[in-house]
Amino acid sequence: MAGQHVGGITITHPEREVFGEGGPTKGDVAAYYEAVASHMLPELRGRPLSLVRCPQGTTGQCFFQKHHSDKLGEHVKAVTLMEKDGGEAEYIYVDDVAGVLELVQMNTLEFHPWGARADKPDQPDRLIFDLDPATGVAWKDIVAAAREIRDRLAEVKLESFVRTSGGKGLHVVAPFRRGPSWDAVKAFCEGIADAMVADKPQRYIAQASKAKREGLIFIDWLRNTRGATSVTGWSLRARPGAPVAMPVRWDEIARLKGGGAFDLKKALKRAKSADADPWADIATLKQSLP
Ligand code: ATP
Ligand code: MN
Ligand code: MN
Repeated sequence: MAGQHVGGITITHPEREVFGEGGPTKGDVAAYYEAVASHMLPELRGRPLSLVRCPQGTTGQCFFQKHHSDKLGEHVKAVTLMEKDGGEAEYIYVDDVAGVLELVQMNTLEFHPWGARADKPDQPDRLIFDLDPATGVAWKDIVAAAREIRDRLAEVKLESFVRTSGGKGLHVVAPFRRGPSWDAVKAFCEGIADAMVADKPQRYIAQASKAKREGLIFIDWLRNTRGATSVTGWSLRARPGAPVAMPVRWDEIARLKGGGAFDLKKALKRAKSADADPWADIATLKQSLP
């Protein structure tokens, strides 16, 4: 079987068009992740991880995988974690580009880490607000929602970061010193979401119920749960056009075309530019949840 070597990992079927006819191939996806790995790994490394794998490409059946298997590759690590039902299971994490590329060889397109690191899965170190607009909500209103969250976090001395989801919305992420429980973090985020709804019920909703969302932005605070994930910065999305979840600067978001503003090609270009690491400070920020 002819393979292509990318970063020391053999990628089989590199010619397979994984985003449909004429789109990026599996070889392009491997080359993409090799090129952006230095920007992506600071957020991804050492965290339990769910994958979206698409063995038949994005036009076929894709599936979420959270449990480890030895077949994934020798650089794909396992960590044993408690399950909701009290049992134990092996979860996936990676520390390096070889691990990422082995997962690409296994047809992974998307990377979704936890908000906690594998060594202390019960102590989150990141919170996230996932902004999910109903169809038809204007981009400027999504931008305003993200900025309002930024400002509310700033009021309690938490600096935050923003990324496009590669889909419809934006994610606002804030790092903090480990210590608070998942329940505490979740309650803190719920408090902010509820306050925003109380102020602007015509614009926001904080309940997961899909029925009531019409015309509103769902401020999804439920991602702040043990075992919940959100897509990592620089991850491709298994959607038409090969969009990318992209870390951006706060002063960039108003100018963007939407949550899918970046695709594989634009992301590759950005990876080589001065704009490549707008989240660089996230790793060194010393701040605590109030
Ligand atoms: P969009 O902007 O289109 O909403 P998104 O990535 O934010 O894109 P969501 O549906 O809001 O998509 O989901 C938020 C996060 O929850 C995802 O990034 C993913 O990590 C996780 N998630 C969503 N659906 C599933 C699922 N079926 N199984 C496991 N995790 C999921
Ligand atoms: Mn979302
Ligand atoms: Mn969501």
